[in-house]
Amino acid sequence: MERTFIMIKPDGVQRQLIGEIVGRFEKKGFKLVAMKVMTVSQELAEKHYEALNDKPFFSGLVKFICSSPVVAMVWEGDSVVSTSRQMIGATDPHAAAPGTIRGDYGVSVGRNIIHGSDAIETAKREIALWFKEEEVNEWHATLNPWLYE
Ligand code: UDP
Repeated sequence: MERTFIMIKPDGVQRQLIGEIVGRFEKKGFKLVAMKVMTVSQELAEKHYEALNDKPFFSGLVKFICSSPVVAMVWEGDSVVSTSRQMIGATDPHAAAPGTIRGDYGVSVGRNIIHGSDAIETAKREIALWFKEEEVNEWHATLNPWLYE
């Protein structure tokens, strides 16, 4: 079963959107296998966003991610990587469709509430970066026969 890395960014935590966001993933039918509230070190933020380190917004982005706690999570389910990206919406909340998390709650690209892995390979890298193996739980969801044929 596929897994993805989801992070509620400092603005999402400060704006008390944790329950709303976790609720959307739960109600969709995805399974939560890891979750922690944490203050991110500069080293971790730089590693997480290393593909963007030549962008003009990189240092501001790293500073922002470290400015207040985040909620780091791993969600599991069929096509969870691409479906999560659809649920999250476009990077710029102005372009994000209504009904998506960024479309419903965001107004600016540098405060877009949530991160989700953009591909299966990226998800593997990000999960390994943010979580120890023993922090990711394998559990059987009794709802599965009602979610999957
Ligand atoms: N970002 C920003 N300014 C920009 C573009 C991106 O501050 O002009 C931030 C924004 O928080 C975004 C993150 O950098 O979520 C990572 O950018 P990416 O292109 O990977 O977008 P995402 O995958 O988060 O939609």
